[in-house]
Amino acid sequence: RTRGRPLVVSATSGGGKSTICRGMLERYSDLGLSISHTTRRPRGKERDGVDYFFVTRQDFERMIAEGKFVEWAQVHGELYGTSRQQLESILLSGKDALLDIDIQGGFKIKRLYPESWLVFLLPPSFDVLLERLQKRATESEEKLRLRLQTAVSELERSLGYEYFVVNDELEKAIEEVQNVRLGLKKK
Ligand code: ADP
Ligand code: 5GP
Repeated sequence: RTRGRPLVVSATSGGGKSTICRGMLERYSDLGLSISHTTRRPRGKERDGVDYFFVTRQDFERMIAEGKFVEWAQVHGELYGTSRQQLESILLSGKDALLDIDIQGGFKIKRLYPESWLVFLLPPSFDVLLERLQKRATESEEKLRLRLQTAVSELERSLGYEYFVVNDELEKAIEEVQNVRLGLKKK
Protein backbone atom coordinates (compact mmCIF):
# COMPACT_ATOMS: atom_id res chain seq x y z
CA ARG A 1 0.00 0.00 0.00
CA THR A 2 1.31 3.44 -0.81
CA ARG A 3 1.77 5.91 1.97
CA GLY A 4 -0.97 8.48 2.54
CA ARG A 5 -0.45 12.22 2.35
CA PRO A 6 -1.27 14.92 4.91
CA LEU A 7 -4.25 17.14 4.02
CA VAL A 8 -4.02 20.28 6.14
CA VAL A 9 -7.18 22.35 6.51
CA SER A 10 -6.73 25.73 8.18
CA ALA A 11 -8.99 28.74 8.59
CA THR A 12 -9.61 31.62 10.91
CA SER A 13 -11.57 30.71 14.03
CA GLY A 14 -15.15 30.03 12.96
CA GLY A 15 -14.03 29.56 9.36
CA GLY A 16 -15.62 26.10 9.30
CA LYS A 17 -12.68 23.70 9.84
CA SER A 18 -14.56 21.35 12.17
CA THR A 19 -17.69 21.36 10.01
CA ILE A 20 -15.84 20.73 6.75
CA CYS A 21 -13.48 18.14 8.25
CA ARG A 22 -16.49 16.25 9.67
CA GLY A 23 -18.12 16.35 6.23
CA MET A 24 -14.96 15.07 4.54
CA LEU A 25 -14.62 12.18 7.01
CA GLU A 26 -18.27 11.15 6.54
CA ARG A 27 -17.90 11.04 2.77
CA TYR A 28 -14.42 9.64 2.21
CA SER A 29 -13.36 6.48 4.01
CA ASP A 30 -9.80 6.76 2.67
CA LEU A 31 -9.23 9.72 5.01
CA GLY A 32 -8.24 9.52 8.66
CA LEU A 33 -8.45 12.32 11.19
CA SER A 34 -5.25 13.24 12.98
CA ILE A 35 -6.50 13.90 16.51
CA SER A 36 -4.49 16.66 18.17
CA HIS A 37 -3.55 17.07 21.80
CA THR A 38 -4.61 20.29 23.52
CA THR A 39 -4.53 21.99 26.91
CA ARG A 40 -7.84 23.76 26.34
CA ARG A 41 -11.04 22.55 28.04
CA PRO A 42 -13.55 20.48 26.03
CA ARG A 43 -16.53 22.49 24.81
CA GLY A 44 -20.09 21.32 24.15
CA LYS A 45 -20.26 17.70 23.02
CA GLU A 46 -16.52 17.30 22.50
CA ARG A 47 -15.09 14.01 23.72
CA ASP A 48 -11.60 13.04 24.77
CA GLY A 49 -9.88 10.89 22.15
CA VAL A 50 -12.47 11.82 19.51
CA ASP A 51 -12.20 15.56 18.98
CA TYR A 52 -8.92 16.06 20.83
CA PHE A 53 -6.84 14.39 23.47
CA PHE A 54 -7.46 16.80 26.32
CA VAL A 55 -4.37 16.97 28.52
CA THR A 56 -2.94 19.13 31.29
CA ARG A 57 -0.27 21.70 30.59
CA GLN A 58 2.16 19.53 32.54
CA ASP A 59 1.44 16.46 30.37
CA PHE A 60 1.70 18.54 27.22
CA GLU A 61 5.05 19.96 28.25
CA ARG A 62 6.34 16.48 29.06
CA MET A 63 5.32 15.34 25.56
CA ILE A 64 7.23 18.29 24.06
CA ALA A 65 10.33 17.33 26.06
CA GLU A 66 10.02 13.72 24.91
CA GLY A 67 9.80 14.82 21.28
CA LYS A 68 6.33 13.35 20.80
CA PHE A 69 5.06 16.16 18.55
CA VAL A 70 5.82 16.67 14.87
CA GLU A 71 4.56 20.19 15.43
CA TRP A 72 2.91 22.12 18.21
CA ALA A 73 1.84 25.72 18.66
CA GLN A 74 0.23 28.12 21.06
CA VAL A 75 -3.08 29.31 19.65
CA HIS A 76 -5.48 31.67 21.45
CA GLY A 77 -3.42 31.16 24.62
CA GLU A 78 -3.66 27.34 24.64
CA LEU A 79 -1.26 24.65 23.46
CA TYR A 80 -2.12 22.38 20.53
CA GLY A 81 0.01 19.68 18.93
CA THR A 82 0.09 16.87 16.39
CA SER A 83 1.68 13.72 17.77
CA ARG A 84 4.03 11.84 15.49
CA GLN A 85 2.34 8.60 16.47
CA GLN A 86 -1.15 9.85 15.41
CA LEU A 87 0.00 11.16 12.07
CA GLU A 88 2.34 8.32 11.15
CA SER A 89 -0.15 5.56 11.95
CA ILE A 90 -2.67 7.10 9.51
CA LEU A 91 -0.12 7.66 6.75
CA LEU A 92 1.28 4.14 7.15
CA SER A 93 -2.21 2.67 6.83
CA GLY A 94 -2.32 4.18 3.34
CA LYS A 95 -4.97 6.75 4.20
CA ASP A 96 -4.52 10.48 3.74
CA ALA A 97 -4.38 12.25 7.10
CA LEU A 98 -6.74 15.16 7.69
CA LEU A 99 -5.22 17.82 9.94
CA ASP A 100 -7.36 20.61 11.38
CA ILE A 101 -4.47 22.78 12.54
CA ASP A 102 -3.44 26.43 12.46
CA ILE A 103 -1.27 28.10 9.83
CA GLN A 104 2.01 27.88 11.77
CA GLY A 105 1.38 24.13 12.10
CA GLY A 106 0.51 23.83 8.42
CA PHE A 107 3.84 25.34 7.36
CA LYS A 108 5.76 23.01 9.68
CA ILE A 109 3.94 19.98 8.28
CA LYS A 110 4.69 21.10 4.72
CA ARG A 111 8.39 21.36 5.57
CA LEU A 112 8.45 17.84 7.05
CA TYR A 113 6.05 16.32 4.51
CA PRO A 114 6.50 18.15 1.18
CA GLU A 115 3.78 15.95 -0.35
CA SER A 116 1.17 17.65 1.90
CA TRP A 117 -1.70 19.73 0.60
CA LEU A 118 -2.28 23.05 2.41
CA VAL A 119 -5.87 24.29 2.17
CA PHE A 120 -7.12 27.54 3.67
CA LEU A 121 -10.85 28.11 4.16
CA LEU A 122 -12.01 31.67 3.66
CA PRO A 123 -15.19 33.04 5.21
CA PRO A 124 -17.55 34.60 2.61
CA SER A 125 -17.18 37.91 4.48
CA PHE A 126 -16.07 39.29 7.84
CA ASP A 127 -19.72 39.85 8.83
CA VAL A 128 -20.63 36.25 8.09
CA LEU A 129 -17.63 35.10 10.13
CA LEU A 130 -18.69 37.19 13.13
CA GLU A 131 -22.27 35.91 12.76
CA ARG A 132 -21.14 32.26 12.70
CA LEU A 133 -18.90 32.71 15.73
CA GLN A 134 -21.67 34.41 17.69
CA LYS A 135 -24.18 31.77 16.67
CA ARG A 136 -21.84 28.97 17.75
CA ALA A 137 -21.68 30.76 21.12
CA THR A 138 -18.84 28.65 22.51
CA GLU A 139 -16.66 31.55 23.62
CA SER A 140 -17.06 34.36 26.11
CA GLU A 141 -17.17 37.92 24.65
CA GLU A 142 -13.54 38.37 25.63
CA LYS A 143 -12.38 35.14 23.99
CA LEU A 144 -14.45 36.00 20.91
CA ARG A 145 -12.65 39.35 20.60
CA LEU A 146 -9.29 37.60 20.91
CA ARG A 147 -10.30 35.14 18.16
CA LEU A 148 -11.39 37.97 15.84
CA GLN A 149 -8.09 39.78 16.38
CA THR A 150 -6.19 36.59 15.61
CA ALA A 151 -8.37 36.16 12.48
CA VAL A 152 -6.96 39.29 10.85
CA SER A 153 -3.33 38.21 11.24
CA GLU A 154 -4.25 34.66 10.20
CA LEU A 155 -5.75 35.98 6.96
CA GLU A 156 -2.49 37.82 6.25
CA ARG A 157 -0.31 34.79 6.95
CA SER A 158 -2.55 32.48 4.93
CA LEU A 159 -1.09 34.00 1.76
CA GLY A 160 1.65 31.35 1.96
CA TYR A 161 -0.96 28.59 1.54
CA GLU A 162 -1.43 26.69 -1.71
CA TYR A 163 -5.19 26.31 -2.05
CA PHE A 164 -8.06 28.60 -1.03
CA VAL A 165 -11.67 27.52 -0.63
CA VAL A 166 -14.47 29.95 0.21
CA ASN A 167 -16.74 28.35 2.78
CA ASP A 168 -20.02 29.80 1.57
CA GLU A 169 -22.22 26.84 0.65
CA LEU A 170 -21.08 23.84 2.69
CA GLU A 171 -21.50 21.07 0.08
CA LYS A 172 -19.66 23.10 -2.52
CA ALA A 173 -16.79 23.84 -0.14
CA ILE A 174 -16.41 20.14 0.76
CA GLU A 175 -16.35 19.22 -2.93
CA GLU A 176 -13.62 21.79 -3.54
CA VAL A 177 -11.46 20.41 -0.76
CA GLN A 178 -11.89 16.95 -2.25
CA ASN A 179 -10.88 18.38 -5.65
CA VAL A 180 -7.56 19.42 -4.10
CA ARG A 181 -6.91 15.77 -3.20
CA LEU A 182 -7.94 14.63 -6.65
CA GLY A 183 -5.57 17.13 -8.25
CA LEU A 184 -8.47 18.91 -9.91
CA LYS A 185 -8.09 22.26 -8.19
CA LYS A 186 -5.66 24.92 -9.40
CA LYS A 187 -3.19 26.46 -6.95
P1 ADP B 1 -13.93 26.25 13.12
O1 ADP B 1 -13.79 24.80 13.44
O2 ADP B 1 -13.10 26.66 11.95
O3 ADP B 1 -13.71 27.16 14.30
P2 ADP B 1 -16.76 25.61 12.84
O4 ADP B 1 -16.75 24.42 11.94
O5 ADP B 1 -17.04 25.39 14.30
O6 ADP B 1 -15.44 26.50 12.65
O7 ADP B 1 -17.83 26.63 12.24
C1 ADP B 1 -18.22 27.81 12.93
C2 ADP B 1 -19.74 27.95 12.89
O8 ADP B 1 -20.15 28.23 11.54
C3 ADP B 1 -20.46 26.69 13.32
O9 ADP B 1 -21.59 27.05 14.10
C4 ADP B 1 -20.88 26.04 12.00
O10 ADP B 1 -22.07 25.30 12.14
C5 ADP B 1 -21.08 27.25 11.09
N1 ADP B 1 -20.76 26.95 9.67
C6 ADP B 1 -19.63 26.38 9.19
N2 ADP B 1 -19.66 26.28 7.84
C7 ADP B 1 -20.83 26.82 7.46
C8 ADP B 1 -21.45 27.04 6.18
N3 ADP B 1 -20.87 26.69 5.02
N4 ADP B 1 -22.67 27.62 6.16
C9 ADP B 1 -23.26 28.00 7.32
N5 ADP B 1 -22.75 27.83 8.57
C10 ADP B 1 -21.54 27.25 8.63
P1 5GP C 1 -10.18 25.20 18.57
O1 5GP C 1 -9.86 25.62 19.98
O2 5GP C 1 -11.16 26.14 17.91
O3 5GP C 1 -10.55 23.76 18.44
O4 5GP C 1 -8.82 25.34 17.74
C1 5GP C 1 -8.10 26.53 17.78
C2 5GP C 1 -7.04 26.53 16.69
O5 5GP C 1 -6.02 25.56 16.98
C3 5GP C 1 -7.56 26.18 15.31
O6 5GP C 1 -6.96 27.09 14.38
C4 5GP C 1 -7.08 24.78 15.09
O7 5GP C 1 -6.91 24.49 13.72
C5 5GP C 1 -5.75 24.83 15.80
N1 5GP C 1 -5.21 23.51 16.14
C6 5GP C 1 -5.88 22.42 16.57
N2 5GP C 1 -5.05 21.39 16.74
C7 5GP C 1 -3.81 21.82 16.40
C8 5GP C 1 -2.52 21.19 16.32
O8 5GP C 1 -2.33 20.02 16.63
N3 5GP C 1 -1.49 21.97 15.92
C9 5GP C 1 -1.63 23.27 15.58
N4 5GP C 1 -0.56 23.92 15.17
N5 5GP C 1 -2.83 23.89 15.62
C10 5GP C 1 -3.90 23.17 16.02
